[in-house]
Order: sequence, then C-alpha cells, then structure tokens
Amino acid sequence: PESAAALSAPANLPVGPLNEAESKALFADFGVPATREFAVVDAAGAAAAAAQLGGKVVLKILSRHVAHKSDVGGVRVGLTAEEIPAACAEMLERLRQAGAPTPEGFLVGELARAEVEMILGFHRDPQLGPAVLLGLGGVTAELFEDSTLRLLPIGRTDAEAMVGELRAAKLLAGYRGAPPCDVPALVDAVLAFARMAGALGERLVEAEINPLFVGQVGQGVRAVDGLAVLQ
Ligand code: ADP
Ligand code: MG
Repeated sequence: PESAAALSAPANLPVGPLNEAESKALFADFGVPATREFAVVDAAGAAAAAAQLGGKVVLKILSRHVAHKSDVGGVRVGLTAEEIPAACAEMLERLRQAGAPTPEGFLVGELARAEVEMILGFHRDPQLGPAVLLGLGGVTAELFEDSTLRLLPIGRTDAEAMVGELRAAKLLAGYRGAPPCDVPALVDAVLAFARMAGALGERLVEAEINPLFVGQVGQGVRAVDGLAVLQ
C-alpha cells in the first residue's frame, strides 16, 4: 500500500451528501489531512471552539444541504472568538431568508494559508467510469480552467504526470521567486483519492476538495473544504 492509511471503507457512513466535517473526516481516513476544526451545534459551541483554537478563525455553516456555502453567506474568514456569536446569528438569518433547511450546526476552523490552491475531485463518468480530477483551485480557477483528469485505477507515475501537465505546474515549482510547493504531498493526495474510490467502490458517487491548500516543501497539503456524496 501507498501508506498506512485506511484501505477499506469506514463503517457507519450515511447515504447521500456528507456534510463538510464528515467529508473531510472521510478524506483524512484515506490520507488527506484537513485543517484543524471543530463541528459544533450552536453559537455558544462555536465561540468556545474559537477560543480554544485561539487567534482568528474561520466560521462556516455545517449543512449537507448547502453545496456552496459562500453563496448563502455561510463562510466568514478571520473572525475573533468575540465576533462569533453575532456572525452565527447573521448566518442563520441569511439561510432562513434563502429558504434553506436549518443547518446541522457550525464548523469553526483554524485560519490556513496556501502557496497554491488546488481542486481535487472524484466523479463517475456515465460512459467512461470513475475518474480523478486535479486542477488549479481558488478564486482564479474558473478564470484559467486548468485541470486534468485520469480514469481509475492510477499509480504514482500517473499522479505525477497529472501534476506535470497542468499549467499550474510552474506555480507549484515556485514561480518567479516564490518558494516551491510540496508536490510530493499533492501527489500523495491524488493517490489517496484514488485509494478511497477503490475502497468505496460503487458507494462513492462524487467527491471534491476545493480548495486543497498546498504548502511549501515539507508543509504538506490541507483540505480546506470537502464534499462527498455516497449511495
Ligand atoms: P464554499 O462552500 O463556498 O466552497 P469553502 O469552505 O470552500 O466554502 O470556503 C470558501 C473560501 O473561504 C475558500 O475557497 C477559502 O478561500 C476560504 N477558506 C475557507 N476555509 C478556510 C480556512 N480554514 N483558512 C483559510 N481560508 C479558508
Ligand atoms: Mg469550497
């Protein structure tokens, strides 16, 4: 095996869309680490979590029914613990106005930073079958449309080739004096997604990490968002 990470499907996974915390926990089981975070049920829990993390944090709504949290005002980056209760109330109010179902709670996480933001995805093509997608993520992703796809199964050489054929390969290598990124950790993340797809088989409908924060050499990668759909 590529690592000591899980090779079989974790038990007790719900059917349908997993929320962000469940999705990231699933990805972590297969070797893609996430940012440090707490899932809580209410504003008081969120404030306590922020105090425990210390400094500025990220607050998100936790809901398996909201795929794009930012679109409904469900992501606030850089809040202090004192700012959390009011921000929670605002988020709930915006969700109510948008007619969305009551969320399961909130996710409070450490503020992460990236050298480069990527997208790592799994999807099932009706004709071709299961595939892994890697691309440039973050706010500029749609602008540049820089992504590549491989049908599964794949090995390390394939994952390395995926990174190499992106235009973002130059960014990852350290563009114009920027420090080089942890490409081996990114390759490991691609392989972890492939391993997860192999272990879950038909149960895995779709999975996406957007963004996957890639750090400098030795700093690894972090799943900052996560969405998985099971059947
Ligand atoms: P959405 O459901 O809208 O895609 P995300 O969880 O991806 O929500 O958050 C939106 C954006 O907020 C991310 O693309 C990222 O730029 C920023 N962000 C989210 N979580 C963090 C974090 N822990 N640290 C730093 N930035 C974050
Ligand atoms: Mg996202």
